[in-house]
Amino acid sequence: MPEPEIGPEEVLVAVNACGICGSDVHGMDGSTGRRRPPIIMGHEAAGLIVRVGADVEGWAEGDRVTFDSTVYCGRCPPCRAGRINLCDNRRVLGVSCEEYRRHGAFAEYVAVPQHILYRLPAELSFYRAAMVEAVSIAVHAVSRTQIRLDDTALVVGAGMIGILVVQALRAAGCGRIFAADLVPNRLELARKLGADETLLAGAVDVPQEILQRTGGRGVDVAVEAVGLTPTLQTAVACLRKGGQLTLVGNFAPKVDLPLQAVVTRELTLNGSCASCGEYPACLDLIARGTIDVDSLTSAIAPLAEGASWFKRLYEGKEPLMKVILEP
Ligand SMILES: [Zn+2]
Ligand SMILES: [Zn+2]
Repeated sequence: MPEPEIGPEEVLVAVNACGICGSDVHGMDGSTGRRRPPIIMGHEAAGLIVRVGADVEGWAEGDRVTFDSTVYCGRCPPCRAGRINLCDNRRVLGVSCEEYRRHGAFAEYVAVPQHILYRLPAELSFYRAAMVEAVSIAVHAVSRTQIRLDDTALVVGAGMIGILVVQALRAAGCGRIFAADLVPNRLELARKLGADETLLAGAVDVPQEILQRTGGRGVDVAVEAVGLTPTLQTAVACLRKGGQLTLVGNFAPKVDLPLQAVVTRELTLNGSCASCGEYPACLDLIARGTIDVDSLTSAIAPLAEGASWFKRLYEGKEPLMKVILEP
């Protein structure tokens, strides 16, 4: 591919690290329709500014940066209300769908508008910074949830995002945190990174177990990080009356919601999409080690090996979390 051209309000970033997202892997096979070739994928990146457009202010060559995965317009009603993740004209880097194509960061260079840039703390490496997008999804889910000090929480799904949610819930002041998953080594990692107790779904009846361990009450807060009918139903069944459920996972476009449980127990449901201004906090949380991203990084490999890492992630035979490519 030729080197990207930059507009007057854009900078050219030499990419040092770019994470492979689940959406890239599922997009590659054509099933989502959001990676229509030809497209340079990649939206979880960090690097060095090597050129700035004529109207760029406050950024210079040599600045170490990361950037939001979403280019928001700043002019539509959601943007003007501060909800940039819900922008009517949002374009995700590394995505090509029916409406647009915007090249991403699995490349030596990527063009990025200045209004989505963030400066890296001096002590933060590029590959850690490339994890900020995933961290921001977890932190946003927690910001969408009204948490009171010492709340009891359950995270359903201990994948990459679920484990980051565990860490964010801990940082937000939750007390006892449970994590549930079908895979034992994910639960092990969840425990290592802050879950107090884990539940192996499939081996135990998760709601029954949660009720037992909370004196029949249920948890104050649940975060669903999978997005399937059984996991949603588990989360609902584990909540106390008046509890809150935040929905991050959306694997299936439709699920069966136990309506009466939600209505009669007055549960609050919060949808959570991408992130909305949480990047600076996330960069700080990573830099200070409050959120551990190293334990979730399975491999850092050269971009030239990208195709084979995509294949391995697609096959899903290995317990891989985040794979980061270095152009
Ligand atoms: Zn992503
Ligand atoms: Zn907008």
